[in-house]
Amino acid sequence: LKDVRKVYRTATEEIEVLRGINLTVPEGELAVIMGPSGSGKSTLLSIAGGLDKPTAGRVVVGGVDITDMGEEELTKIRARKIGFVFQSFNLIRNYTALENVMLPLLFTGIFDVKEAREIAGKMLEIVGLKGHENKFPSQLSGGQQQRVAIARALAPSPDVVLMDEPTGSLDVDTAAKVLSLVRWLNQALGQTIIIVTHNPEIAELATRTFYIRAGMIYEEPPKKMLIDTIRELKAAGSLEDIR
Ligand code: ATP
Ligand code: MG
Repeated sequence: LKDVRKVYRTATEEIEVLRGINLTVPEGELAVIMGPSGSGKSTLLSIAGGLDKPTAGRVVVGGVDITDMGEEELTKIRARKIGFVFQSFNLIRNYTALENVMLPLLFTGIFDVKEAREIAGKMLEIVGLKGHENKFPSQLSGGQQQRVAIARALAPSPDVVLMDEPTGSLDVDTAAKVLSLVRWLNQALGQTIIIVTHNPEIAELATRTFYIRAGMIYEEPPKKMLIDTIRELKAAGSLEDIR
């Protein structure tokens, strides 16, 4: 992100959520983004993932400037280069787990249905969901749904996976499963990941840590502050308590 600004305009007000964000995440890094509620973390991820446009500035993903790209081209680029994992899973309800994972593969325009089915099946196996391929989201637990969402994000081998509080709506045990998946992705596969999280265990995996406050982004404050924040979060037991 280069000098990214984002202004939201409503009928009554105008708020500048991002005030000039410069953020570069090199290949293979696991960047964690933290910041108070309402500070613009989801906005930043949406812009980085091409789901929303910045008011000013440039967005480059895997060497491609996506800032001014039209929706049609963007859909393809997103499918190939960017995996997105949301807090609320965002699976398509009337598609099976397998079909949900197949969808971005088909959007890339690279794979036919047979290939997409094969890759999707393998991805579901990797995230520990073999045997659940034909279930609908409503027939899966929260943690299983999140793993489908992760399989879907990873299936096209994207340049970067963006995760917005992926353990935010999961219980501790299920969050631990997602945590080990994130660790394995980054440490064993070298997958570049940008993750918004307040989960202290995920924060500990970070190769780089960023904080958003008042529309600006800061990298790695003094170690003590980090330790204090993590201690605070652990003491509170969960993010919700802190908020
Ligand atoms: P949280 O930790 O609660 O998820 P966040 O850091 O992800 O918060 P954002 O969702 O990015 O915060 O929102 C940043 C600010 O922008 C908030 O003040 C929010 O109300 C505002 N905002 C977000 N989306 C819109 C929109 N579509 N229109 C107007 N204002 C918006
Ligand atoms: Mg958010």
